[in-house]
Amino acid sequence: MQTSTRNTVLLTRSRTAVWHPCTQMKQHETLPIIPVARAQGCWLYDCDGRRYLDAVSSWWVNLFGHAEPRINAALIDQLQQLEHVMLAGFTHEPVVQLSERLSALTGHALGHCFYGSDGASATEIALKMSFHYWRNRGRPGKTEFISLAGSYHGETLGALSVTDVALFKDTYAPLLRHSAQVPSPDWRQAAPGESPREHAMACAQALERHLEQHHANTAALIVEPLVQGATGMAMYDAEYLRQARLLCDRYGVHLIADEIMTGFGRTGTFFAHQQAAIVPDFLCLSKGITGGYLPLSAVLTTDAVYDAFYDDDTTRGFLHSHSYTGNALACRAALATLDIFDEDQVIEANRGKAARMTALTRELAAHPRVRDFRNTGMIWAFEVGGAGPGFGHRLFEAALRQELLLRPIGNTVYFMPPYSISDDEMALLAARTLGLVNAA
Ligand SMILES: *Cc1c(COP(=O)(O)O)cnc(C)c1O
Repeated sequence: MQTSTRNTVLLTRSRTAVWHPCTQMKQHETLPIIPVARAQGCWLYDCDGRRYLDAVSSWWVNLFGHAEPRINAALIDQLQQLEHVMLAGFTHEPVVQLSERLSALTGHALGHCFYGSDGASATEIALKMSFHYWRNRGRPGKTEFISLAGSYHGETLGALSVTDVALFKDTYAPLLRHSAQVPSPDWRQAAPGESPREHAMACAQALERHLEQHHANTAALIVEPLVQGATGMAMYDAEYLRQARLLCDRYGVHLIADEIMTGFGRTGTFFAHQQAAIVPDFLCLSKGITGGYLPLSAVLTTDAVYDAFYDDDTTRGFLHSHSYTGNALACRAALATLDIFDEDQVIEANRGKAARMTALTRELAAHPRVRDFRNTGMIWAFEVGGAGPGFGHRLFEAALRQELLLRPIGNTVYFMPPYSISDDEMALLAARTLGLVNAA
């Protein structure tokens, strides 16, 4: 790719001074780093004005495009009033309003909102809270956690302990706590002739066998509802969540819904767990919560959990904290994001949008090299057969030349665009990806 001096200088400085995430830095001897100068809507622009369609919502966080005027205006307004204040012993309008509105979105079933700054922290908070709940209730032996095979819940040591992605976990295994993995209801793993629902039921039976044996020592089951993202967009039937809820109730184990990726409309309902008509004991939110503007996470929980900490004894309280807890700017961005959901009737509008995108990808889905083309809400994914090693990096580079930001996970190519993507942009994304698959 031809590139200007300005572009080259920035990416060279970045390679030296910035240690990029989830990256073997040596690969950037050949793999480009894209210097982004500005962004607007679904498009990123580099220093030369070359553009890239942000088809992965900048790592799954952006909901309504970059430089969204309503979120910008809300943040500018908030800056004139209060940027941040510590949340221990202090409070402010944005954090109170956000907590009330998030609670209302759960039908007030989860009425207590605890804040962190990123997804992994939300996982840590839910795990610690669950354990501490049982301890306060006289069950200190409930110290174990269960997650699904292939699950991803973040990469700090506690979150990584319940994550099951070998690439991220194996190196650090000696530092991690043990956790148990039960079979994933991922429908691609169904036996021949078994429907996604039947596979979900079979996996629920495996969960039951585990709980039967281990419930006395188990604090919680943590799941990514409907879509396991980082393992490669594994999708599953909502029946699994219904069964998991029943089993967790029967065996006295918490259910943690990690909706850090699936929340905020990504799977077609505001929260993914709503498709199973269940309520988790803990709901972890982050990523889309601020529309992709600022780091923020939240864990919502029930009166029953909250009440177990409410006491004269300080140590029975939840003594967990992060410096930027409940940051006012981040909360205000989240409120502006929730306003857009109402104003633009986003959940309804996305139904039509998703149907049009699925129609636009018909040829791609039927391509002889495309396997297991799948869709949930505003997520589309497929594998490319016979791709060979290094496929992900090759496709990433080839996509950039077609003005697309795609970031395959292994052989899995996925689209997770901002909800503001237009019909023309969807058509461009589908057509150029078909071209890339043809050339792969
Ligand atoms: C991204 C993600 C996390 C971790 O969030 P970070 O902000 O990257 O720490 C946890 N769980 C799920 C399901 C995620 O997709």
